[in-house]
Amino acid sequence: MRWPSPSLLLFPLLASGWLAAGSVVAGEIFHKVVIDPGHGGKDPGSIGFDLVEKELTLDLAKRIEKLLVGKGIGVELTRRADVYVELADRAAVSADSPFTILLSLHFNAHADRSISGTETLYWPGSESGRELASYIQSELGRRLVTRNRGFRPERLKVLELAPVTGVLVECGFLTNRWESQRCGADWFRQIVAEEIVQGLLRYRDAGE
Ligand SMILES: [Zn+2]
Repeated sequence: MRWPSPSLLLFPLLASGWLAAGSVVAGEIFHKVVIDPGHGGKDPGSIGFDLVEKELTLDLAKRIEKLLVGKGIGVELTRRADVYVELADRAAVSADSPFTILLSLHFNAHADRSISGTETLYWPGSESGRELASYIQSELGRRLVTRNRGFRPERLKVLELAPVTGVLVECGFLTNRWESQRCGADWFRQIVAEEIVQGLLRYRDAGE
């Protein structure tokens, strides 16, 4: 008997969406994480209750770096000091290797000081970005007793410019008195670091 051509066999699956490109994404194996501490130098980022975003993001980045290196995962930071780095240059760091994740770290601010919580953002239409954001955000909602604002697509320049899967994590509102006290505390940033790493590892394991 003559077997139908592979394309004919695949057609019903493609038509039903099962094999459509990007429709089935279950994690991704990566070898390196580019950690991007938001802001720096002349750009302080958000400021609230004596806290400066650019300082907190750098501290958090170094905590995450330590944890990832301990797991044998390669890490690169887009900045290691209080310097200004263009968004394009931040994104470009992730272009060196194809098996790379871009993790941009930020703390939030809002004119309404009652607003608090964590959220993870990804580039609209990026299935892998959405998947990674969901893993990280579900971990952040696990141990931190803070509002889980979920994950959502957002047209952020650094994610648009990055040629790899990327997410941007907003780790808390510096303009909320209660949350700013936590963001300023070492123990809080350590838990945030551990949760983000846990999310990254679960995303990677899902890709194996
Ligand atoms: Zn920021």
